[in-house]
This record gives sequence, C-alpha cells and structure tokens, in this order.
Amino acid sequence: MSDSKPLHDSNWPQHDWPVLEPGWVWLCGAGPGDPGLLTLHALNALRQADVVIYDALVQETILNWAPQADHIYAGKRGGKPSAKQRDISLRLVDLAKEGKRVLRLKGGDPFVFGRGGEEGQTLVQHGIPIRIIPGISAGIGGLAYAGIPVTHRDVNQSVTFVTGHDQSGNATDSLDWQAISNGSQVIVIYMGMKHIAHITAQLLEAGRPASEPVAIVTNATTPHQQVLETTLDTCVRDIEKSGIEPPAIICVGRATSMRQVLDWQGQLKGERPRNLDPLGRGRPAESV
Ligand code: SAH
Repeated sequence: MSDSKPLHDSNWPQHDWPVLEPGWVWLCGAGPGDPGLLTLHALNALRQADVVIYDALVQETILNWAPQADHIYAGKRGGKPSAKQRDISLRLVDLAKEGKRVLRLKGGDPFVFGRGGEEGQTLVQHGIPIRIIPGISAGIGGLAYAGIPVTHRDVNQSVTFVTGHDQSGNATDSLDWQAISNGSQVIVIYMGMKHIAHITAQLLEAGRPASEPVAIVTNATTPHQQVLETTLDTCVRDIEKSGIEPPAIICVGRATSMRQVLDWQGQLKGERPRNLDPLGRGRPAESV
C-alpha cells in the first residue's frame, strides 16, 4: 500500500489490503446471506466505497457496514421486470467515470449465475479498471448450512451446478438433462423453483430413481432458512404442501441424506442426529 494514511484502524487484521481507488469498480460477492460469510476483501471494500450497488439477496446488515457510502438497489428477481442488466452495467460505468469508488455487491459469488462476467466485460469495454472479489456461492455454502456436503466420498466425485431458468425466465431447454443425469450423482439447481415440475420430470425420464433424495433449502444461511427433505417423485407435491418460496437451492442426490447426521443447526437447537450412518456404510467414516 503506497498510501501513508492507514486504510483501517489497528484492530483490523494486518495485511497488504488493496485500496479501492476513485474510478474503479470492484465486483464483489456478498455470500449467501449470513453476514459472517463475507470475505475480508469484501469488508475491506465496504469500508472504502463511495457507492454500493447491491442486489436483492444482499442482507441489510452487510450494507450497514458501509455507512459512509450511498446505497443503490439494483435487484432483479426471478425474471421479473426490474432493473435491466444493461442499465445496471452502464450505471456502473457512469459512476466510475464520475470518479466514485464503486462497489458492486452481488449475492453469493459474482461469477456463479450472477452476471458478474457481463458487468465486468462492459466495464472493461468502457476502459474502467475492475477487481473481482469472489464470494461463497449459495449452492455450496447454503447447502453446508443445511448439513449437506456438496461432495461426499461415498456418493459423488463430481457435482453439476445448473440454473433452472434462462435470462427470460423460461425453462432452460439448452440443458441436456440426460447427460447431466448420467454424469453427475449430485445436481445443485439454482433458480429452480419456478420450473421444478419440468426439472424433476426430466430427471425421472433420464432414469434417476423416483425415491432419490432431494433437499430444498430456502433463505439459506439467514434466520429464515428452511429445509424441505423430499424425493424426486414427491418433490412438486411437497413444495406445494409446505408453501416454501424462493430463493431456494435444490440439491438432488444421495449426499442430501448426510443431513441426517450433519444437520448442525438442528443440533444447535437441541435436536439429536437422526441417523449416524445415513449411507449405511456400517463402519466408522474414517476407517478406510
Ligand atoms: N451468485 C449467486 C447466485 C445468483 S442467482 C450465488 O453464487 O449464490 C440467484 C439464485 O441463487 C436464487 O434464485 C437461488 O436459487 C440462489 N440463492 C442465492 N442465495 C440464496 C439463499 N440465501 N438461499 C437459497 N438460495 C439462494
């Protein structure tokens, strides 16, 4: 750091923290919800920004960590008409050209179904310098808060992240569900609630078992987190019955059963593990 004035007070962790210079835009992930899942780079950015442009799923507590900055909402939810992507990108360009220190704060990770790539591209095309700060994506961190390991040695050596709908809100016809089904024991679906009937039908048709476990985690990592445990063939009915609503991460695969032993949030509330060996290995997990 070339600045003689220290960026942060002495309580701040010692590191050569980057300076958010006027005219720059930092594209930053805010994590899935729980403010504690923010990275230190994100906090460093919040402390320096003149303006924070944030998305729908960014928690208010996180914004409160940038009291000196203007907060601009640029939320888009589930294909509903709201701020247009192009307008958001151009707004970022304008603010940077005004000499602002701009923090673009997006839910989860900016490059995971977050259009961070498009915004970054527009900025670079307009000659604006950028920095990318990754975040914990809901499809990993959100499942972890539900006690679901996104990979588990007994279940999967790969995982596929898919989005349930395309830019216009329609079901993604470009996805080859047969190939996904064959190639991935665990499938993590973002933005899948609207087209869940279509998605489960495709997976069943591709040969996935009707009894395959599915977990749906809504408002993951927030105080409103809910987890619905179901199966491929009962999923649609159970969602209707439960009345749960997006934002939701849907996880298809046997790894979801691990929640029976790893639901640490339930255990915090005094619940007992339902099954110490949900995959039926019949031996201690570390014995091999
Ligand atoms: N960039 C984000 C994803 C943006 S797309 C990330 O990396 O997490 C928005 C979708 O992400 C939502 O429709 C939902 O499927 C998922 N999502 C984001 N935050 C979530 C949360 N707290 N709980 C459940 N799903 C979430």
